[in-house]
Amino acid sequence: MGVTSSQIESVMTTDVLVLGGGIAGYRAAVAAREADCSVVLASLAHGASPYVIGANIPLGASDPADGPQVYFDDMVRGGYGLNDRRLVQAMAAQAVPSFRELDGLGVPFARENGRVLQRHLSGNTYPRSVFVPEGTGRVILDYLKARAKAIGVATCQGWKVISLLSDQGEVVGALLVKRHTGELLAIRARATVLAMGGIGRIYDDSTYPADIAADSYALAYDVGARLVDMEFVQFEPVVTVWPEECRGLEMPTAMLGDGARLINAKGERFMFRYNPEHGEKRIEKARMSLCIQQEIDEGRGFPDDTVLFDTTSVPRERLESYISHCKRLRAAGVDPTVEGPRVRPAAHSQMGGVHIDHHGWSGVPGLYACGEAAGGVHGASRLAGNGGSETIIFGAIAGRGAASGLLAPAARDWPRIERMAVDSLRAAGRTHGSAEPIEIKRAVRQLMARAAGLYRDATGLAAGIADADRLQAEVDAGLKVESTSESIAALEARNMLLIARLILRAALARTESRGAHQRRDHRQQDDSAWLKHLSYRRGPDGQPVQELVAIQ
Ligand SMILES: Cc1cc2nc3c(=O)[nH]c(=O)nc-3n(C[C@H](O)[C@H](O)[C@H](O)COP(=O)(O)OP(=O)(O)OC[C@H]3O[C@@H](n4cnc5c(N)ncnc54)[C@H](O)[C@@H]3O)c2cc1C
Repeated sequence: MGVTSSQIESVMTTDVLVLGGGIAGYRAAVAAREADCSVVLASLAHGASPYVIGANIPLGASDPADGPQVYFDDMVRGGYGLNDRRLVQAMAAQAVPSFRELDGLGVPFARENGRVLQRHLSGNTYPRSVFVPEGTGRVILDYLKARAKAIGVATCQGWKVISLLSDQGEVVGALLVKRHTGELLAIRARATVLAMGGIGRIYDDSTYPADIAADSYALAYDVGARLVDMEFVQFEPVVTVWPEECRGLEMPTAMLGDGARLINAKGERFMFRYNPEHGEKRIEKARMSLCIQQEIDEGRGFPDDTVLFDTTSVPRERLESYISHCKRLRAAGVDPTVEGPRVRPAAHSQMGGVHIDHHGWSGVPGLYACGEAAGGVHGASRLAGNGGSETIIFGAIAGRGAASGLLAPAARDWPRIERMAVDSLRAAGRTHGSAEPIEIKRAVRQLMARAAGLYRDATGLAAGIADADRLQAEVDAGLKVESTSESIAALEARNMLLIARLILRAALARTESRGAHQRRDHRQQDDSAWLKHLSYRRGPDGQPVQELVAIQ
């Protein structure tokens, strides 16, 4: 589309630039500002954070036996031993102080007679999930935004980050665009915190909101950061496929505890085959996903590859207490007292991400990462409720890390630096190709569902890589792009494909089954060969370099 650096309409300068406006981003921005730095936060929308229903904090309010050490042990056990111990240690040690900081801001965590209420989520030894009845993620975000405003964090909302600014191996800011006008904004910074969330919708079925597009990983990779544990994608077990109007709606697993049942196309309550004593109850979400997928793969699902989430067996009063779910199903013409939705597992979160140290530093000067953008703390599987904890704990850690790690002031050739970033958008703007960006995105989603779903094997993964290579050739030849928003879509397609290819490679390389990575052709966990992280970074020729990283 022929943009040049002289077409950058605005330039801002700051000490710390935070990219992403979810909980991790706002928490990082507040921490950096409280450390006396000037801070700009730029984001498209609010990502997955508003959907968080709780965060694990080992307060011991429900059971005094809980504490940081038990929490540490739960994380390492739940992560199948693959967790980066430095990060787990930081998370366990900082959880209670992070909670106190939010409590101090006035976040109305649920309490009874002054005692904080804590729910019991799967994989946690004790009830330790703190929550806000009105919506945990949304309310925490509201308080952090108010705090950020009060202390002078500048915000740029509705901007899409398209590239990091890079100068001689240092990250010195970012280039942003307004989707509908093509207006460009360069933000120069002495430290940049990536908090742009997870993989987004790179699978056919996904619970991610539309503003997440795997950009955190792609942008970090482009400037030389290392990505770890990318093969570990977590699936939510019971996500609605039918009715179509509710597609992507997570059915609450708590409703299974209240009497809902999972039924296959033969009318069987199949969970008792996998979990003989308790059926749909007392089983980790990750295991439940595998059971449902096995049922579908072995031909006992409905024709749309689903099972029935039978809501009719839930006592009426209990059922109606799931107000928003009943409302959405009824709006789609399905009365849950008469008929339930059909569901299957859907991609929900990414355990891997940017390799960081316990200050949130990526190893690339000037670049920090936190929240779902970062990898390593969860190992091969994330404890339920730890997505929320990670955002509040590592958001603060990365914000402080960035504030204390500012690059020294330097004379820089800004026109050259910004021109290089603008070139990435211009490269995506070639118009002579035949494939449209939307077709590439659709093809990526389909191939990921086929090749890198809950169960994987060498044949499927190799076929997926071959399909991805063909798509890459189409992208390299230039896509059919006629507008700024299509240029941006082309960049998104390129980023989705890049990250999909790394997930496929990692999944093929890891010849064992561990946590969220299940190989049908390598069913055992193999600690002697695989108790280590797989990592990828961009090599000098632009191709990924695969390295094994020992557990620290
Ligand atoms: C439906 C759902 C329910 C969940 N429930 C829970 C739960 O109950 N408990 C739990 O622990 N975890 C849960 N998770 C996971 C949890 O929500 C995430 O791990 C966590 O919110 C990630 O927070 P974050 O701040 O790192 O990123 P996000 O909240 O995803 O925020 C990312 C930010 O980056 C912005 N962004 C992305 N790309 C760009 C770009 N190119 N340019 C500009 N801005 C960009 C987005 O607009 C957004 O502001 C859930 C996830 C989903 C999808």
